[in-house]
Amino acid sequence: MNHNLFETFARHMNARNQSAFIVTPEGRDFTYADALTISAQLAGALIALGVKPGDRVAVQVDKSPEAILLYLACLRMGGVYLPLNTGYTAAEIGYFLGDAEPSLFVCQPEALADARKVANSTNCPQVATLGVNGDGSLMETATRAEPFDGIEQRAGTDLAAILYTSGTTGRSKGAMLTHGNLGSNAKTLMETWRFTEADRLIHALPIFHTHGLFVACNVTLMAGASMYFLSRFDVDTVIEAMSEGTTLMGVPTFYTRLLQDDRLTPELTRHMRLFTSGSAPLTAETHREFEKRTGHAILERYGMTETNMNTSNPYDGDRIAGTVGLPLPGVEIRVTDPETDTHQPLPQGEIGMLEVRGPNVFIGYWRMPEKTRAELLEDGFFVTGDLGLIDERGYVHIVGRDKDLVISGGFNVYPKEVEQLIDEMDTVLESAVIGVPHPDFGEGVTAVIVPQPGARIEETEVINALKSRLAKYKQPKRVFFVDSLPRNTMGKVQKNQLRETYKDIYADV
Ligand code: AMP
Repeated sequence: MNHNLFETFARHMNARNQSAFIVTPEGRDFTYADALTISAQLAGALIALGVKPGDRVAVQVDKSPEAILLYLACLRMGGVYLPLNTGYTAAEIGYFLGDAEPSLFVCQPEALADARKVANSTNCPQVATLGVNGDGSLMETATRAEPFDGIEQRAGTDLAAILYTSGTTGRSKGAMLTHGNLGSNAKTLMETWRFTEADRLIHALPIFHTHGLFVACNVTLMAGASMYFLSRFDVDTVIEAMSEGTTLMGVPTFYTRLLQDDRLTPELTRHMRLFTSGSAPLTAETHREFEKRTGHAILERYGMTETNMNTSNPYDGDRIAGTVGLPLPGVEIRVTDPETDTHQPLPQGEIGMLEVRGPNVFIGYWRMPEKTRAELLEDGFFVTGDLGLIDERGYVHIVGRDKDLVISGGFNVYPKEVEQLIDEMDTVLESAVIGVPHPDFGEGVTAVIVPQPGARIEETEVINALKSRLAKYKQPKRVFFVDSLPRNTMGKVQKNQLRETYKDIYADV
């Protein structure tokens, strides 16, 4: 049996044939029949350019339907797809090409000169281009090359993709994901979220990340559904798309931005059946506010590059604000003591390290055996680096990244607990709590706050408001006000940047 993920997709693609697969606001639409034909042409181009099964294909291109067809082509001919954040500079790309040793680098047409230089210096043998309108040398090669309309034989354990982690500390690591990892997770999500052929997903996420590429596209393909494919998130376009869309997969900032728009009503979202959120914490307030405005309870889920998706709030049943839901079918989650190396589960309800095991979990970091051994344990559990707890109903709560934990005077402070209380203040829009070096306490709890537009708020007010609600060691020693928090493209607050900005504030105390 062929375990190539494309084999599973092809069944739907053949059956859906003249139905829409990708629809764009610009009218560049692709049926499933188009996807089969063009992916065969692109697979032919990859082969003509010297890519062999198991070879990496590094891709740094702007979002376009053809980029998804290239991903499919790569799966189909047995290549290993390696998408790269479009924000990376040539110097950063040098690291990825040197590390992954792809046999082809696909870049944007305008980046060709730089890409050639980087490819030369890293011994990458081929460079091709792919533009947002399906232009570029790769598509030209595809029209000339012998199409590959077969499906390369792959085992479930063969690599389908390498996704580099966003790497806020140290070097980015290449997470090796197999056909089995991606296929099992897509099937589970399709079933859990009830995706069918009738669905039209509003796709406004980037496609170099697990959320926009695997969660969104693989679930669509697995169900034979269609996508309304937007180059980026734009409130007006997303609002327009809701008249025909059925689902939206978002990061929390999508929802906070939609909430700022008066057009967001039950009437507008009448055609929609599901809104999901992930990649960063959705505040309970946003969840409640969205439900109040539209009648839809956002379904929050939790996953990561290395594991695909791990938990989801239920489709039927309670979607509990501030939680990431229950472990997905087939996924095991345990909470262990991060301070010992024993990985023994803690008593139910206690906060600890979340560890995950299941068919979704990657097989290791590319060429980093030591990092792999440290994080992917012998019993199959992956140490996520996220701290959390499982409540009495089995719902998982995330309290923050291990590295974001603040240790003040020897006591652990979970930033989320402090952030939640600050966010409850009427004058506060959002907040981030960080630990920065403090001569007496090791780290000083520090709050960085974005006030509500037009609100007046003072440092002492925040400190006083928290006095009766938090133990002394958890109370912020200093509070700073900013216009916005630094976030990456997936909406994650870049706490490392905040720690850098405020690193000297307690130097003189
Ligand atoms: P990435 O590998 O870039 O997808 O980042 C994964 C990390 O994002 C996880 O380890 C979590 O820290 C965070 N994350 C993902 N989904 C959620 C969520 N629903 N709530 C809180 N954090 C999340």
